[in-house]
Amino acid sequence: MDLPKHQEFLIGNYAPPPLEIVRGKGSNLWDSQGKEYLDFASGIAVTNLGHSHPHWVKNIQQQSAELVHCSNLFSIPEQVSLAERLVKKIGPGKILFCNSGAEANEALIKLSRLHGNQTKNKRSKVLVATNGFHGRTLGALSATESIKYRQGFEPLLPGFVFCRYNDLSDFEQSIDGQTVAILVESIQGEGGLEAASDEFLLGLETLCSKHNLLFLMDEVQAGIARTGEFLGYQKSGTRPHAIAMAKGLGGGFPIGAIWVDQQHSQLFTPGSHGTTYGGSPLACTAAHSVLDVIENENLIEQAKTKGEGFKIGLQNLAAQFPQKITEIKGRGLMLGLGLNFDPSLLVANLRENGLIAVGAARNTLRLLPPLTVKDDEILRALNILRSGLAQIKLD
Ligand SMILES: *Cc1c(COP(=O)(O)O)cnc(C)c1O
Repeated sequence: MDLPKHQEFLIGNYAPPPLEIVRGKGSNLWDSQGKEYLDFASGIAVTNLGHSHPHWVKNIQQQSAELVHCSNLFSIPEQVSLAERLVKKIGPGKILFCNSGAEANEALIKLSRLHGNQTKNKRSKVLVATNGFHGRTLGALSATESIKYRQGFEPLLPGFVFCRYNDLSDFEQSIDGQTVAILVESIQGEGGLEAASDEFLLGLETLCSKHNLLFLMDEVQAGIARTGEFLGYQKSGTRPHAIAMAKGLGGGFPIGAIWVDQQHSQLFTPGSHGTTYGGSPLACTAAHSVLDVIENENLIEQAKTKGEGFKIGLQNLAAQFPQKITEIKGRGLMLGLGLNFDPSLLVANLRENGLIAVGAARNTLRLLPPLTVKDDEILRALNILRSGLAQIKLD
């Protein structure tokens, strides 16, 4: 890795990278020194099929020879069929495509503006959760509480009210005549793998219908089969009005989308919103391929059962290292180890020993293997975790 050149030519918005990754296959990554890693980060919940899944690769190769991009001036058959497929998995409604999670949340925020501007007092306040994460664009950032992301970018967009996650009465008490929407994640990814309780999500839905608020769900990280449901909120049986998706949707090719229920899908009218790339033939082909593999390889069920096995292994580790592990969080293959030390210590140790994992807020180590992960790979990861935890010295 040419770190001096990296730093000479790339803007320093990321921490200096520890290594250079050049190849991936299945659950494995290789660095430029030829060292192999088990990838339990999946590019932050993106490469849910593992790296270079043959079905995904074949379809992308074929589509790139056929048509990559033509813009939304035209109907794109892959976009129409992908929208139909998503609607069948989520519920009656419509889809708008974009390129990333932040963009999908921007579209939800703009939807809430369209909704609010139809109301008598032009409501515009959005209730969002403490410790949430919705992206780095100014709107999505304004909806994100953590000072770590906000610092230096003020003034941010006004009108976002932070309420305690999983605290229904805090949300209820924060509703006033200006409130127009509630936006939450079903499991907080960056925030440290806190899962919304079913009662919390169902309670938010009730509040929304009572006060004519839009119930907006950010499924960018928890979505696309990762938690053992197609979307994380589906476990609770709640019904949001609109949903943001991205990350796992393209399996590594950038694509984002929002689903909006029938009633609110008419709020966007011709010319009111748009993107040059969103839903390109190539991006939609990538997403189709992800959905194909989810269906053909039963990845929703796989995430659930593999996740249960993995979680038991992690609980055994927690029993073995009670001073170091405080709790096991998350579900499916979106799991977190609550630590009582800075997770970056462990991330570095694991990497040395061939396991890629990623930190999250509140001293959490995030484990996001591909949904195609094999049992023996989970066992290997648990062994690397065990020796890593044994090596960490707390003072
Ligand atoms: C990653 C993430 C985003 C932002 O997605 P980008 O594609 O990085 O813009 C938004 N919401 C959640 C919950 C995320 O995890």
